[in-house]
Amino acid sequence: MSPQVPMAPVAHTNGYEFTQGTGYALPQYPFVLPPELQATHRVRHPVVVVGAGITGLTLACSLAQLGVPAVVLDEDNTVGVKGASSRGICYTQKSLEIFQRLGIYERIKAKGIEWSVGRTFAGNDEVFSFDLSQQSQFNLSQQPPFINIQQFYIEGYLVERIHEIQATHTPVDLRWMSRVVGFSQNETCATLEVQTPAGNYHIEAEHVIDATGSHTPFHAWCQASMDAKRGDDRWCIADVRFQNTPPTERHTWIEAPFNENRAVWQHLMGDQVWRIDYQMAPHTDPAYASREDVVRERLQRQFGPDVACEIVWVGPYAYKSQCLHQLRSGRVFFAGDTAKVVSPFGARGGNTGIADADNLAWKLAAVLRGLAPESLLNTYHDERLEAAQRNVLVTNRTVRFLRPAEPAAQLFRQATLALAKKHRFARNMVNTGRMAEANTYSRSPACAGGGVSVQNVALRWANGRAGQFNQLIDWADGAMLLLVWGALTQAELGKLRQLSQSMAMLRVVQVCMPGDAAQALEHIVDDRGHVRQACRALDQRWALVRPDAYLAATGHAVDGALIRALSRSLAVA
Ligand SMILES: Cc1cc2nc3c(=O)[nH]c(=O)nc-3n(C[C@H](O)[C@H](O)[C@H](O)COP(=O)(O)OP(=O)(O)OC[C@H]3O[C@@H](n4cnc5c(N)ncnc54)[C@H](O)[C@@H]3O)c2cc1C
Repeated sequence: MSPQVPMAPVAHTNGYEFTQGTGYALPQYPFVLPPELQATHRVRHPVVVVGAGITGLTLACSLAQLGVPAVVLDEDNTVGVKGASSRGICYTQKSLEIFQRLGIYERIKAKGIEWSVGRTFAGNDEVFSFDLSQQSQFNLSQQPPFINIQQFYIEGYLVERIHEIQATHTPVDLRWMSRVVGFSQNETCATLEVQTPAGNYHIEAEHVIDATGSHTPFHAWCQASMDAKRGDDRWCIADVRFQNTPPTERHTWIEAPFNENRAVWQHLMGDQVWRIDYQMAPHTDPAYASREDVVRERLQRQFGPDVACEIVWVGPYAYKSQCLHQLRSGRVFFAGDTAKVVSPFGARGGNTGIADADNLAWKLAAVLRGLAPESLLNTYHDERLEAAQRNVLVTNRTVRFLRPAEPAAQLFRQATLALAKKHRFARNMVNTGRMAEANTYSRSPACAGGGVSVQNVALRWANGRAGQFNQLIDWADGAMLLLVWGALTQAELGKLRQLSQSMAMLRVVQVCMPGDAAQALEHIVDDRGHVRQACRALDQRWALVRPDAYLAATGHAVDGALIRALSRSLAVA
C-alpha cells in the first residue's frame, strides 16, 4: 500500500487526533481568572490534580463526594482529546460500579450500549466466543459486565457531577486552560507553575496527582524510571453510523478476509456509532490509511459495495506499553496513563485509570481528615503497581498474538487458529484481547487475606426495602465497613460497640440471613446470600470492606485478628 497523491504528514499517536469525518461538537468550558493571579502570597492546597481526563476527573469527583477540596488543572478547555472524538469506548463492570457511587451511572446507562457477548472469527470460522453475563465474576452485580460509550461522554458527566456537588458543598475547583509548565518539591510542599491565557502563576500543594496522560512532563520532573516498549503494529479506526446496523455483539476477526487477513474489531457505542478498527500493515502511512476514499473502500470490502454510512471520524494509531517502577515520587502520585500505558486491546487503559483514582481518593480523604496515617498513601503504589504490571503483561500477550513478530510466536498463532477451528479446548488460547477486570491485590499488606473487588450486589435494608451494596459504602462515608454474620454474643456485641465508638474510620453492620435476629443497631438483610458471596465470606464470621469496595480481610471470630486486620488496612503500625 502506498499513497496515491502526496499528503501532509499525519503522525501515529497514542491518543489520536481527528483526521476525517464530521466529528462531535464538545462542550467548551470557560477560563476563569484564578485568585492566585491577583494574590500577593502563594496559596497552598491539600490536593492538586493535574489533568482533567477520565482519571483526573474520576479522582476529583470522588474527592468532592468525600468532602475533600481540590484544585484540578487542565491545559485544554474541553473533554476528550483536543476536542476530537473518543479514544476509549468499553467500560467494565468495576468502572460502572464506581460511577454508580459517583452518581453518573444512570447517565452512562441511558447513553451507552450494554453488551456481554463477544465472538471472534478467523476467516468465516468462529474460533472463540464468550458471554460475560454468564460468568460468575460478573453476574452478581447491579451493573452489567460492560457498557460501550464514547469516553468524552463519561468525562462530560463527571464535570457535570463535580459542578453539582460543588453547588451543594465541597469546593473542587476545576480550572481549564491551565497548563502546568514547572514543578519542584521539598519536605514542606510541592510548587507548580501554571500557564494560563491571563499569565503564569504559582500554586503550592501538599499532594499532587499527575493525571496528565502518556505525554506527562512529570516523568522528567520526577526522574521517573520505567520499562517501555513500542512495536510496529499499526491500526486505523473508522467510527461510522450505518443505515442498516449489524448485531450489537462485539465481533472481532483475528484474520479478516476483507482486510487482507489482518484483524478487525467491530463494536457499537452511543448514538448508534460503530467503531470499526482495522489492523494495517506494519509501518503503514497514517495519512494514506485515514484518507476518506481509502476508508470508504475498506468499509465497502467489509460491508459490501452498497454500504450506506456516515463517517463520524477516523483515527490512525500506534501504541506502546510502558510501566513506571514507582507510582509515588515524594508528593506526586502517578495515576492513569502516567502510571502505565497499555495497548487498547481489552479496554484496560481508561478502566484502570478509573480504578487508580478510586484507590487513591479514599486514602487521601482518610489522611487529610486525620483518620489514617500518611503511610496509608504508600499502599497506593503497592496495589496499583501490581494492577499496572498485570495489565501490561496481559495486553502484551494479546499484542504478541495479534502481531507475532518472532517465528515462535507466529507458529504458536498458526497452530492455535488451526486447532481452534476444530477443537473447543484450543479456543481459549485465541487472544484478541482479554477484557478488563477488577485487578486483585495480592501483594499489598493493607489487604492481606482480601484484595478482591466486592461487587455491587442487591441487599435489603432493615425496613425490608431493596438496596444495594454501594449504598452501604455511601452510608459509611469514606470509612471501613465491618460486616458481621450470625448470632452475636453479648461479649461480641460489647467489643463491636467499643470498636465502632473508638474508631472514626469504622462502621459496623450486622448482616442477617433469613431467620436471624437483628441484634445490632445497624443491620441489613442478605436474603439471597449475595453479600456473603461477594465478600468471599461463606464460611467466615466477618468481612472488612474498604471505601473502594475492595475486601481488606475476612475472619472467623471477633477477636484480635480482626483488630490486626483493621490496623493493617489503615497502615497503622
Ligand atoms: C484507540 C484507543 C482505544 C481505547 N479504548 C479504550 C477502551 O475501550 N476502554 C478504556 O478503558 N480505555 C481505552 N483506551 C485507553 C484510554 O483512552 C486511556 O487509557 C485514557 O484516556 C487515559 O486517561 P487519563 O485521564 O489517564 O489520560 P488522558 O485521557 O490522556 O488525559 C490527560 C489530561 O491531561 C491534560 N494535560 C496534559 N498535559 C497537561 C499539563 N501539562 N497541564 C495540565 N493539563 C495537562 C490533557 O488535556 C488531558 O485532559 C483506548 C485508547 C486508544 C488510543
